[in-house]
Amino acid sequence: MTTSPAQQANLDGFDLESMISDRSNGIDASGIRRIFALASTLKDPINLSIGQPDFPVPQPIRDAASNAIQNNVNGYSLTQGLPTLLEKVNNWLKVDLGWDTKTVNTPDHTGPVSMITSGTSGALVLAFLALLNPGDECIIPDPYFVAYPHWATLCGAKAITVDTYPDFQLTADRVAQKITSKTKFVLLNTPSNPAGVVMSKAECIKLRDLCRSKGVLLITDEIYDEFAFSDATTDACVGDPSSPRCPSPARIEGAHQDVLLIRGFGKTYGCTGWRLGYAAGPKGIIEQMAKLQQYTFVCAPSPLQAGVEACFDTDMSEHVNEYQSRRDLVLEKLGSLTEIACPGGAFYAFIKVPEHLGMTGTQIAEAAIKRELLVIPGGAFSSQDTHFRISFATQRDKLTQGLDILAELLK
Ligand code: PMP
Repeated sequence: MTTSPAQQANLDGFDLESMISDRSNGIDASGIRRIFALASTLKDPINLSIGQPDFPVPQPIRDAASNAIQNNVNGYSLTQGLPTLLEKVNNWLKVDLGWDTKTVNTPDHTGPVSMITSGTSGALVLAFLALLNPGDECIIPDPYFVAYPHWATLCGAKAITVDTYPDFQLTADRVAQKITSKTKFVLLNTPSNPAGVVMSKAECIKLRDLCRSKGVLLITDEIYDEFAFSDATTDACVGDPSSPRCPSPARIEGAHQDVLLIRGFGKTYGCTGWRLGYAAGPKGIIEQMAKLQQYTFVCAPSPLQAGVEACFDTDMSEHVNEYQSRRDLVLEKLGSLTEIACPGGAFYAFIKVPEHLGMTGTQIAEAAIKRELLVIPGGAFSSQDTHFRISFATQRDKLTQGLDILAELLK
């Protein structure tokens, strides 16, 4: 007789099956885990599956964090974040978006407010918790960042997906068909994971107009905003018109009233493990998020908050240019073999498995593993498994080797 894991757990005196919540059981993380499990059997794979930069955290940022530890900035910060970091975030939002942002607890301020969060994920989880009742809906793109649907599930709500194939733009036309009386927010991600696609300025405007007209909040996940390539930067900082930027619905006149902006430090500065991000937008929403942060994450890591203050004086353009040139290499090696929506930013490409191969994204990922190459099947990010994701945040020689193998597999 075989015993299930739950029955085995019962041997320890627990009825695990009834102990675990429906909320937790409702989350299936198997898709991506399977590939990582297979990958762990390889000694030195060519890894095009990693979602973080391959450069070290710039020295001044590391120094600022270790100085903070040495100077005893090791206790809790205020739940909304270190005032010195918030001041820098608020100054930047003025330059970048023209927003007159103040820290969340500022009395008598009716404009946009900000808070520091435990990563971009921390900000997004707080937003989902603050906004979604059981039975509510939110609208996300398909393909999506893997965690989005699960956060809705955690709230007892439902993430309604919008098919964005083949160009991966979350257009107002596509979204409009999915808005119902239950919709609380639309979640845009630009540049996107897994496609690296940047939403055009015209589409940002249309999507924001649609959300406004329907009384639905627009959340914009801009974790990759600094990684926008020169051919995708059609906007400029409001306060510094010479500085090119990725289009954002947050840069549209009046957007601070109905757009919730979420950004992170981890991807831009290579410090994903520091777990730092920020949220800015309507006061009534950020206040709720700060209240929830108090009773969940408490605060973001204090010395590391002090560390990322140095980000605002750190120029990452050399890295962005390097990633743009690796993006070009991806298109050069694979562009003639299959469909790739041009990544305007981030460090991903979402590549279609050519139909004549008759293979799924998972089958390509499995074939790649046999050649010691790691890529992620599209089914991990989507209801369809027709594509696969590569990350070009990988040293150039390894990337070239990986692309050569993919070129053989896709022929
Ligand atoms: N949003 C997107 C689109 C992402 O790709 C990621 C990380 N891969 C996150 C949010 C979460 O980022 P963080 O590590 O800052 O929580």
